[in-house]
Amino acid sequence: MRLKLEDIKGGELEQEYSCSLTDFPDLVAIADDGGPKFTDPLLFQLRFQRSGQFVETDGHFCSIVELKCGRCLQNFIQTLDESFVLTFVPQIKDNDTEEEVELETVELGLITYGDDVLELQEPLQEQLLMAVPISPVCKASCRGLCPECGIDLNLEKCDCTRKPFNNKFNVLANVDFKKS
Ligand SMILES: [Zn+2]
Ligand SMILES: [Zn+2]
Repeated sequence: MRLKLEDIKGGELEQEYSCSLTDFPDLVAIADDGGPKFTDPLLFQLRFQRSGQFVETDGHFCSIVELKCGRCLQNFIQTLDESFVLTFVPQIKDNDTEEEVELETVELGLITYGDDVLELQEPLQEQLLMAVPISPVCKASCRGLCPECGIDLNLEKCDCTRKPFNNKFNVLANVDFKKS
């Protein structure tokens, strides 16, 4: 997944990429770890606009991801549909040492490239990771698991929740408070 600067002819190029989970090693690692699992294909639409050495990229992706509900712990499927902007800037080499000058690129949201080739894999992987919900919930009405017996309250009922939630006041009812 790379694009040569010279392929952006006339300053503009639209590309569609159909990627696979295995194109993104960090996503594979997360899925292997029991985390969110993306489903093939991962579709990207990218529109590159070049102005000199700068390339502004409007991107869009659509992907299906399997998530675990934070309330009931069941896996569920969600479609992620996100737009993003990437700005590629050339690496700057120090004239004397030929070493790459470190720019504060991350803070500025810029992605550096060298040798007139844009590497797309890492920035796209980052966009996918950022789109994953931090606290996924299968549906807004999910009742979750009973904190007492652990059954899935979406599927079954239990008696735990019918207990009076607090009987502290019953105890206090028998206390003889002296009025001062
Ligand atoms: Zn749930
Ligand atoms: Zn219960």
